[in-house]
Amino acid sequence: MGNLELIVEKHTERIHRGLEVLPTLKHGVPDGLGNKRWTGDLILATYEQALTGDIPQNDLEYKTGNSGGGFDVLGWKSHDRVAKVDQDQVDLSIPLNKRGDGEKIEIPVPIYGGGMSFGSISLNFMIARARAARRLGTYTSTGEGGYPDQIVPYRNHVITQVATGMFGVREETIQYAPIVEFKYAQGAKPGLGGHLLADKVTSEVAKMRESSMFTSLYSPFPFHSVYSVEDHKKHVDWIKTVNPRALVSVKVSTPTDVDMVAIGSYYAGANIIHIDGGYGGTGAAPEIAKKNIAMPIEYAIPKVHDYLVSEGVRDEITLMASGGIRTADDIAKAIALGADGCVVATAEAVAVGCTHCGNCERGRGCQVGITTTDPELSQFIDPEWGEMRIVNLFNAWSKRLRILLASFGLESIRELRGRKDLLVRYK
Ligand code: SF4
Repeated sequence: MGNLELIVEKHTERIHRGLEVLPTLKHGVPDGLGNKRWTGDLILATYEQALTGDIPQNDLEYKTGNSGGGFDVLGWKSHDRVAKVDQDQVDLSIPLNKRGDGEKIEIPVPIYGGGMSFGSISLNFMIARARAARRLGTYTSTGEGGYPDQIVPYRNHVITQVATGMFGVREETIQYAPIVEFKYAQGAKPGLGGHLLADKVTSEVAKMRESSMFTSLYSPFPFHSVYSVEDHKKHVDWIKTVNPRALVSVKVSTPTDVDMVAIGSYYAGANIIHIDGGYGGTGAAPEIAKKNIAMPIEYAIPKVHDYLVSEGVRDEITLMASGGIRTADDIAKAIALGADGCVVATAEAVAVGCTHCGNCERGRGCQVGITTTDPELSQFIDPEWGEMRIVNLFNAWSKRLRILLASFGLESIRELRGRKDLLVRYK
């Protein structure tokens, strides 16, 4: 073993050991960890769930953050007299295709992994996410940076994303895909497209994106081929021609007319409308854009759900929500507001050690191997270890969801959809 391998192994061990010790700290939450949305408690509670696969058994707050708004001021109505339901029998599955034609895909948990591109995250983290999706029977999305050969073995659980830069989009990666996702916009930076700064464009990333090494890469906003529902339908038809069995998902941010965008997507033939609110994104998204442009997802979900109901098409399209989903309670609240399920990315990063330091785009990138393309730093994530951390987190969330649903006398997560009457506003 050479010096480099020894150093990487030593640091990997240190990171993994640190993550396993942190949740048991007896001296409180470390100063400076997290922020008001992702509090130190939530970060440590996520580490603990990723370690144990269970709900935290200590005093860590694992349900909400401390932002003073949105999900953090929504709680559950007290409920004493409900029919008894065995929590082990609660069904968490949701359909991803509600239309009369095409593949009938269901996922056993109301969650899948959101797009984080090759280049913005390390290959090892990407593989860990794909392995976890396969183990859980759900999906993860490639993001817009192309489809590395190393995730091909997991292709039945990988969503191919097609975004405005068209980086790495190839006919075979559309043909692989059970689901193809058009990313029209991202909630963390609507109207800005994507950007990958030069430092992260290594030879592998440049090759995948058919570009030059150490050159900043920008994907435009918007798709210059789409200015109407009819244009969008041509996109959907293009995918259905290349891969007739693929479901089509449409990822959009949350402008004030997001309900119109959703109904347009339905009429264009999409199976999934995925709305992305303003609290997601890695530390690479510009601070000025995050939290200041897109509508918070808590407002966008009921707006879209109610409009689809009023148009009589709600039961023909799946509504997925993302952009600030941190906990099982956030997932349940999003569904009670009208979503069918949620898409998560940052929470998976926290499961493998993200501390919310915000340095994703600086220099060599993430010091724990998540948002980096540096060959040494990337090795800090062992794909099998990352897979288990993500699987454990989803299992812990599933337990909490089952407890919550059973307490309301609900036998299926589908019965929770749109049950705003079960929510209360605290402040
Ligand atoms: S720990 Fe890594 S992924 Fe998390 S915010 Fe810091 S640099 Fe980004």
